[in-house]
Amino acid sequence: MGILNPHDHIMGKTLTCVASVTEIVTDKNGYNNACPDCLQTVYESGEKWACPSHEKHDNSRHLFCVVVNTTDDTGSQFSTKTPLTS
Ligand SMILES: [Zn+2]
Repeated sequence: MGILNPHDHIMGKTLTCVASVTEIVTDKNGYNNACPDCLQTVYESGEKWACPSHEKHDNSRHLFCVVVNTTDDTGSQFSTKTPLTS
């Protein structure tokens, strides 16, 4: 008999929860350079930006990251949110 993983039924699924933002961690905010096409992180390559899935781009897209603490009646956790910018 195999060992059952209690998390198998939620692995790979998108879940929705309702929680309140109780803290914005201002000293950990920043941004990633992202691919303009797929928003994966890109890396400087010479004078261009290299995406793992696309050709090199002349420019990157700044993807701002905001670290927040969210809380609901089961507890709290820190997570990173990435509101899109131009
Ligand atoms: Zn890409």
